[in-house]
Amino acid sequence: MKTEQQTFKKINATKQMKEIMELHFRELDEAAKTKSKKIAWCTSVGPAELLRAAGFLVFFPENHGAMLGASRMATDLIPVANALGYSPDICSYLTSDIGSYIKGQSPISKAYPGISGPPRPDVLVYNTNQCRDVQDWYNFYAREFNIPCIGIQTHRGVGDVTKAHVDSISAQIKALIPTLEEVSGKKLDYDEFKHVVGLSRQCTDLWKEVLQIASNVPSPLTFFDGAIQMGPAVILRGEQRAVDFYKLLLAELKLRVKDKVAAIDGEQFRIYWEGMPIWGKLRELSTQFAELSACVLASTYCSSWVFTALDPDDPFDSMARAYTELVIVRDENYKERYFEAEIERYKIDGMIFHDAKTCPNNSNNRYGMPERLSKKYNMPMLVINGDLNDLRCYSEEQARTNIEAYIEQLSEKKGR
Ligand code: SF4
Repeated sequence: MKTEQQTFKKINATKQMKEIMELHFRELDEAAKTKSKKIAWCTSVGPAELLRAAGFLVFFPENHGAMLGASRMATDLIPVANALGYSPDICSYLTSDIGSYIKGQSPISKAYPGISGPPRPDVLVYNTNQCRDVQDWYNFYAREFNIPCIGIQTHRGVGDVTKAHVDSISAQIKALIPTLEEVSGKKLDYDEFKHVVGLSRQCTDLWKEVLQIASNVPSPLTFFDGAIQMGPAVILRGEQRAVDFYKLLLAELKLRVKDKVAAIDGEQFRIYWEGMPIWGKLRELSTQFAELSACVLASTYCSSWVFTALDPDDPFDSMARAYTELVIVRDENYKERYFEAEIERYKIDGMIFHDAKTCPNNSNNRYGMPERLSKKYNMPMLVINGDLNDLRCYSEEQARTNIEAYIEQLSEKKGR
C-alpha cells in the first residue's frame, strides 16, 4: 500500500494559486458591497476578455458549480431547484447553483470567511458554444435581478471552422458592446481589449504547455492535479496574475521532468479521462488510480481552456475562432480525430469515458466513439456512469469494481 505522500504528490505552486483565487473572490465581494465596479457573470468559455476590457469584474457561475460539487453541497441543493421545475435531468451545475441561491448556502462563504456567496451581477453574458443550459441558467437570474442577459448563439456540431462561422460569431460579439457600455457607463477601451486578449493568449499558451508536459514518461502531472490547477485558466484568463502563476507552475513541473519525478510512483498505466470530472469524488478516484499504479494524466476537460487562436492584433475574429474551435462545439468526426491525436501524444494505454447523466454535451461515449477507438487501437475502453455534481447518479461501489477490473484487463494486455 502506498503512503499518503506517494499517493498525493504536493504541487508547491498550489499555495500561490489559492492566494490569487482568494484575492479574486475578495475583489468581487468588495466591488459588490461598495458598488465600486460593475460585475458581469460570464459562462466559462464566454467572452471574458471583452467584459474585462469593458471595465467589468468577471464572475463565473460554472466555477461556483464546480465548488458546489467538490464540497459535496450540490446533492442536497439540486432538489431545491427541481422543486422550482428545473428538471433533475438538466445540468447539475445549473440546478445546484440555483438551489444554492435559493437556500443562501455557498461553498464560497466556507472557503473565504466574510464573503456570503456569489457577488450580485449587473449583467449576465453567455455563449451557447458549450450547451443551451447556460442560457436558461442565466435567464433565471435575469428574471430574479431584473438585469440584462445577453449572449452569443454558437453553431453546434461544427466540422471545419469556416470564415462564415467566424464572421457570424464575431458580429455577435460586437453586438454585445452597446449593452455592456450602457451597463458599465464606459466606452469599450479598444487598446485595453487587445491587451487583455494578449494576456489571455499568454495564459493559454502556458496552460497548454502545463497540460502537455504530461506526455513525458513518467508523467509529472495527473488529471486530478489539472482539475485543481486549471482555476486561473478559467476565471483569471486575461489577467497578468494568471500568466505569472502558470510560469511558476510550469517551472516546477519542468523540474519534476528533469529529476524524473513521477506524479504516480511506479507509473504502469497511462489513462485518458474523457468527460466531466466527478467533482465530489476526485480524491477517492485519484487514490484508487494511484494505488493501482495507474496515472490518469490527460483529459479533454482540462484542455477546454486552451484557446490558441487568440490574437491581440485581431481580437474580435480571433475570439470568435478560439471559442468555436473547442471540442465541445465540434462534430463527431472532428472529435474522433482529436482523441486519436491525444492517444498518440500522451502514449495512452486506456481511456475512460465518464457518461455524465446531466451533461450529454460533455459525454462523448453515446455515439459509438469508445467502440471505434477501441477497434482502431486494440485498446479496452471503460465507460463510467455518473455525474459532475449529482452524486445520486453515481455508484461508488460499482465504479470501484469496474476500475479495478479495467486495470486488470490493461495489465493482462501488457502481459503483466
Ligand atoms: S456543458 Fe454540461 S456541465 Fe457545462 S454548463 Fe453545459 S450542461 Fe452544464
